[in-house]
Amino acid sequence: MVTALPHQPAELDAVIFDYNGVIGLQPTVPMWSGLAELAGWRADQLGLFQNAFWSAREPYDSGESDDTDFWTAVLGHRPDPELLTRLRAVDTAMWTSTDDRVVALLHQARRADLPMVLLSNAPHPVGDALDASDWRALMTDALYSARLGMNKPHLDTYRNALAATGVRDPGRVLFIDDRADNCQAAARLGLRTLHYTGAPADIEDHLRLATVAA
Ligand SMILES: [Mg+2]
Repeated sequence: MVTALPHQPAELDAVIFDYNGVIGLQPTVPMWSGLAELAGWRADQLGLFQNAFWSAREPYDSGESDDTDFWTAVLGHRPDPELLTRLRAVDTAMWTSTDDRVVALLHQARRADLPMVLLSNAPHPVGDALDASDWRALMTDALYSARLGMNKPHLDTYRNALAATGVRDPGRVLFIDDRADNCQAAARLGLRTLHYTGAPADIEDHLRLATVAA
């Protein structure tokens, strides 16, 4: 008698995690408002502030521009050193809250000896702050765009992250990101992808395969 085996997806050898929107929680409106106010925007100008913020962010994330360049572009004038220090501190702190449910899954994957690498678009201060986080020790390595000198979805960011996993075959590595364009770029290199939409069970479903296989 032939018994049909249940479908067994290929095993995972490593996972590459995006940070913000996956492990990290998006900043709340009060956080954004606090930063906008510090930067001199009125309470009813939050949308304008966010436009200015994101318009200047890419070169800051990639390490091409520094704190002064970034905030000069956002403010429209060069901030004095004291204001710059406060802007940098509030901006950085706003990206460091994590989703406890996802961090619990990182612990679970770590217990299963699954190599995990962080690949985050983050300016230097945010990368430094994330490196100081408790959960950082769970990761095999952490790659930040400002240190790489390029942002996702540049293909070399994924090549670097894959190399950091120590796994040669991208088809055995899962990339998880909340941005579809980042996932699409990763898929071009042959990485498996999970476009994360905020449900930790989706990550758990993928990691359980590796746990069972371990
Ligand atoms: Mg993200």
